[in-house]
Formats: sequence, C-alpha cells, structure tokens
Amino acid sequence: MTRTFLSKTAPRIIVRKSPSELAKMRESGRCVARVLAAVRSLVAPGVSTMDLEVVADKMIREAGAKAAFKGYYVPAVGKRFPAALCTSVNEEIVHGIPSKKRILKEGDIVKVDCGVLLDGYYGDSATTIAVGEIAPATERLMKITREALDLAIDQMVDGRRLFDVCGAVQKHVEASGYAVVREFVGHGIGKQLHEAPQVPNYIDPKIRNPRLREGIVLAIEPMVVAGSPATRLLSDRWTAVTEDGSNAAHFEHCVAVTDNGPWILTEV
Ligand code: MG
Ligand code: MG
Repeated sequence: MTRTFLSKTAPRIIVRKSPSELAKMRESGRCVARVLAAVRSLVAPGVSTMDLEVVADKMIREAGAKAAFKGYYVPAVGKRFPAALCTSVNEEIVHGIPSKKRILKEGDIVKVDCGVLLDGYYGDSATTIAVGEIAPATERLMKITREALDLAIDQMVDGRRLFDVCGAVQKHVEASGYAVVREFVGHGIGKQLHEAPQVPNYIDPKIRNPRLREGIVLAIEPMVVAGSPATRLLSDRWTAVTEDGSNAAHFEHCVAVTDNGPWILTEV
C-alpha cells in the first residue's frame, strides 16, 4: 500500500532498525513474498480478483501473520480498507478492491499489493502480473518499471541520500518515455506500515533529503504510467486510476541499508 504524498499525518522521525529487528522484518517480508508467489501462480484469464484475495487471506492467517491492509484506516478516505490485497487492473494504479465481479481477461495486467504484520513488524510488497499474452507495449511498461525499482534498490547504500533513490526511478522512467505518479509514494516501514520518510518516485525539492544510514528500511514502489500521470479516484474512494485511462505498472520491495549494501527483505 502506498502513502498519499505530503500527507499532514506523515511521521517525521526516521527509525533505524537493529540487526535483530531486520531479521524479524526479513520474516515479514518472506511471508509477503510467498503470498505474492502463490497469487502469481493463480493469475489466468477467467480468475476473479476475489479469488486471489481468498487465497492470500488464508495464507497470511496460516502463517500466523495479520493482513496489514485489512481494516487500515485512511483519514482522507474516511473508511477502512476491506481486504488483505490491493488488486488494481490496467488503468487502475493502486488500492483496487478485490471483487468477485472483476474477472481477469487475456491481455490485462493486474497489480497485486500485499502487506502483513508478523511478530511486530510490517512487510509490504507489490508486483504487476500479466494475464496470459499481453501487448508488447504493456510488456515494456512493466519491464521499465521493474528496472526502475532495481536501480533505486542499488542506491540503498550507507552515505547516499533519499534523492538518489527517488532520482534513480525518475531518471529511468522519464528517459524511457513514461511518467511517474506523483500523488502516491513509497515510505519507511517497520513497527508501523507507513513510517518516515516519504519516498516519492521523483525528486521533490520541497521535502528533506536525509542521508541513508545502516538500519534504514524503505518500501520503494515506483508507479509508472504509459500516458499522462494525472490520477483520479473511483467512487469507492480507494481505487486510484489514470485520468486518461492509460495502463499503469507498480512494483514494490522493502529494502534495508546494511554494511553489506542493499538487502531486499521481501523476497522468498
Ligand atoms: Mg504495498
Ligand atoms: Mg507500500
């Protein structure tokens, strides 16, 4: 799940994690990664986004974890998110609500975002999954977004700064002819789902540019659109879509700064 950028309720203090805390966050991250892998294997034409939700919700419970998004309250929305997964299809960017009526069809892409709370620490990861055969242009959008995440992860090194992470995404996306979404951003993560700092997918000189230090964990999550980056909310007040109806891709990993370089926590 993303943060709404420049939210007034955003915390300001960056909490660094000890090695034992990072070990716990690795387990939360592994749990999320297993759920996303299971969801990926289910995605096919004819499957509903609720089918994905049911499997994910069960897996999270069986792992002894709590679904982080279910019941998550966002003051700007005024209600609680109803599901364990966000499932966002095609022009839906983030925060889509799983539904029995939303049947995936050949050529769609579905963004699946999953968060868990395990042993006091959060994990949060998202991926974009192709439904059957997709158009080459859609495949390229996914590839560039995934590459932007990888380039940002490379910057998670002690001594670099937040803007090195933000700038890595922006530079790759814009050089490839796409745009980043501005209203939703990545975030610090740990004992809270959304901690400081906010992690936009572009350099915003209006925000602080803290130095990255060992123990800092960021949920980095490029949201990239093929057309205009303008967004709007559907009437459910959760689902963010591109205003022009163009496709969007989203990938997210939680990454720690360590003395050995970047550590991706949300992998199997
Ligand atoms: Mg997420
Ligand atoms: Mg997130």
